[in-house]
Parts: sequence; structure tokens; C-alpha cells
Amino acid sequence: MEERKKENRHVIVLPYPSQGHLNPLLQFAKCLAHKGLKVTLATTHYTVDSICAANVGVEPISDGFDQGGYAQSGNVEAFLNSFKANGSRTLSELVKKFQDTNDPVCCIVYDSFFPWALDVAKQHGIYGAAFFTNSVTVCSIYCHIHYGLIKLPVKLEDTPLLLRGQRSLNLCDLPTFLTSPESDTAYLAMKRNQFSNLTEADCIFVNSFEELEREEAKGISDLWPAKLIGPMVPSAYLDGRIIGDTVYGSSLWKPLSEECKEWVDKKQPGSVAYVSFGSMVSLTQKQMEEIAWGLKAIGFRFLWVVRESERAKLPDGFMESTKEQGLIVSWCNQLEILAHPAIGCFVTHCGWNSTLEGVCLGVPMVGMPQWSDQITNAKFVEEIWGVGVWGKEDDGVVKKEEVMRCLKEVMEGERSDEIKKNAVKWRELAIKAVSQGGSSDKFINEFLQLLEQ
Ligand code: UDP
Repeated sequence: MEERKKENRHVIVLPYPSQGHLNPLLQFAKCLAHKGLKVTLATTHYTVDSICAANVGVEPISDGFDQGGYAQSGNVEAFLNSFKANGSRTLSELVKKFQDTNDPVCCIVYDSFFPWALDVAKQHGIYGAAFFTNSVTVCSIYCHIHYGLIKLPVKLEDTPLLLRGQRSLNLCDLPTFLTSPESDTAYLAMKRNQFSNLTEADCIFVNSFEELEREEAKGISDLWPAKLIGPMVPSAYLDGRIIGDTVYGSSLWKPLSEECKEWVDKKQPGSVAYVSFGSMVSLTQKQMEEIAWGLKAIGFRFLWVVRESERAKLPDGFMESTKEQGLIVSWCNQLEILAHPAIGCFVTHCGWNSTLEGVCLGVPMVGMPQWSDQITNAKFVEEIWGVGVWGKEDDGVVKKEEVMRCLKEVMEGERSDEIKKNAVKWRELAIKAVSQGGSSDKFINEFLQLLEQ
């Protein structure tokens, strides 16, 4: 059995089934496959058909809502409870299915949102490795909470927070759950739960890279010894090492690639603002209007992703009156757009994947964070990495004038050149990290060595 394990190293990768988690975990699966492992991505029945990646097998497991996934469950708590019960059982069955083949599973790499997957790994006597999809900074904040080093809610008099390895954090820099834990108790519980059995994990991964967050990782390494293996972005956008790796390979919506490409191809280099709030954020009608009128008034060309479910919030007549100036699509291949020379800036909600993608493609950003970790990411974009600006709210909304100020600043303002220079610098460092011998590459190789033991 031991011998067989060594010859056929087979890893199951288990993502949380949302776009922002499928992307980095599938990318990690592809990296492991590229390094010679057999890899199977286990995902829900509802998302299994959305996955397509060469060299990575895909197998369904059940979250208990096989027809409609999260939307069918009604709320986070019901979804997570059902996923734990049904997912543990069906993940275990999947491990068993491979037991007597030539490729028995030797490790489960699980999304840190699913600590129960580590129990499944341990029941089968195989390795379990947690994969965190937030920044090191944000993971470290939740780790501090887990060890009682931050008490919730964080109040003004507790700030600035001076945490291990961290920059000083003001109240306005913190993930929303810290200041108002009651705003989403189920989601906060899930974040805290990531650490519940983590000391038993054989390995911890985080989708970041040393050059980006070295001090933050070092400061918490005794409590959270994570390997920084990112950025998990298709190889074609970084060092090109995995031939043909041009897309993540998981799309829950159909990207309007042709339409977008045709439109941006006709635009001048650096002239277009690409605007997207990711897969989950739902803006208020007021916020949507302020962005719309800000874009129109500043006059730059724009490509705006407005998901179908958000479209009714666009102001009346806006699409018609900006026909010449902008294109609105329901979904796009974000990486393809960010890599296009016409794109001059990225107006983003600062979801961690979008932030990393902006960094990887060297695109200056305008951060308009809405909740959770996005706030902290926006601070880093502006203050720490200097790759963009953070659009500030006034009365709970980023007003039209602020949208205009930020766009102008990044596209052609006084700081524009410096921001662009920093963006290029961070892109180069991201490429270096994932290239052969780079910090992320070394950490992945260490994991392969562990699997050989
Ligand atoms: N994305 C995309 N097309 C779009 C908008 C977003 O492919 O039109 C992708 C984007 O590249 C990123 C993911 O969706 O990888 C969103 O993840 P992120 O963490 O930024 O935000 P979330 O959706 O989790 O809030």
C-alpha cells in the first residue's frame, strides 16, 4: 500500500462552489497536475458541468442541493450544514472509490471553508491540506480572532489594531464582520471555523505570494504556518510555464468574449476603464446610479460587467445615452480583458481574486470595496502596494464626484505615472514568484516532497 502511494500520488482538490473559490482551487489543481500528480477536482453536482480543465479529473459530490446549489438552499447556514453532512459522506465515498485502483488518493486539498474535509482525510489515513482564498493579512486577522487576540466587535477605542506582522489597521480598514459581527453571523462563523481543527492539517496554503505579504505571513507563522503559493492565475498570464493554460476552466456564467474583444480591439491603448464587482456583490440602486453617472460624466470609455440580476438597477436611459462611450455585458473573461492593452484601469470591488488579477496583469485599480475582506484589500491596493486608489464612501455611497476623482487620478492624474510604475513592478514580482525556483514554486515543491514521504 505504501509503495503504491508513492508511485501514484493522487490528490483530491475540494473548492467551495462559488466563482471566487473555484478559480484559485482549480488553478492549484492544474499546477499540481503539471508537476506530475494525478488530480481530481471534487465539486457539487450543480457546478460539475461548469468545470473543464485538461489533466484534471472532475467528480461530483453532494451538497444536498443537487438541482440548484446555494440558491436552492435559501441561506448560508442551511447550505453549509447540508454541505457538511452530505459532503462528508460523498467525499468519503469518492476516496473509497479510488482505494482499490492504481490511483488511491493520498491527500485532500480542501477549501478552508470546509474544515470537515480534514476529518474525512484523517478517517482515511491520508494527508489533509487547507487552502485559504483570502489574503494573508485577512487570514491573519481571523487567526487572531480564533486565538482570542482580537475581541469582537472591534471598537474605535481598540484601534489602531497592532497585530503580529501587520501594518497598523484602523477601524475603517477592517473586514466588515469585525466591526459589525451581527451583520452576517453565519458567514462570520464560517470564517472563524476555518481554524477549528487546523492544527491537525498537514499543510496550509494561501493564495498570495511572499513578495506581496512576507512580513504579514512571518508575523503569524507560529499560529498559522501557511505556504504562500500564489498568485493562482492561469499560466499564460504569468510565466507561461503550463502550455495552453489560458483560462481558469470554471465559469458559472457564459462570458461574452467575442463581443468584448471586438469592442476593446478598436480602442486606444490605456483608454478604457474596466468595471466589475465580481460574482456576488449586489450594489444598491443608489450606488449603481452614482457609478453610472460618474462614468458618463468623466467621459472615459468603459466596459462594465453588470450581471443580469443587477441590470434593472441601471438608471433609465443610461445605456442608450452612453452607447458610443461604453459597453455593458453580463459576464466576461476578466483575465482576457485585464490583459488587453486598451484597458487603462480596473474599477473593482477588491474581491481577493480580482485584486490579485489586477496585480498580476499590472493594471492600475480603483477600489470600491463593499463588504468582508474587500475593505482591507482596498487599503493595500492604495496605501501599501501603491497600485491604485480607494474610492471612499460618503453617507454609505461612493458618490459620482468620487468615482470621477478616482478615475481621473488613476488614468491621468498626478499620481498616475507612479501608480502605473508600481503596477508594472508588482506584475514582475508575481511572475517571479510562480516561475521555476520562485518562492511560490518552491513551496509547491515542498508539498510534493511531503506527499512522497
Ligand atoms: N470574473 C470573470 N468575469 C467577470 C467578473 C469576474 O471571470 O465578468 C472572475 C474574476 O476573474 C475572478 C472571479 O470571477 O477570478 C471573482 O472573484 P473575486 O474574488 O474577485 O470576487 P467574488 O466574486 O468572490 O466576490
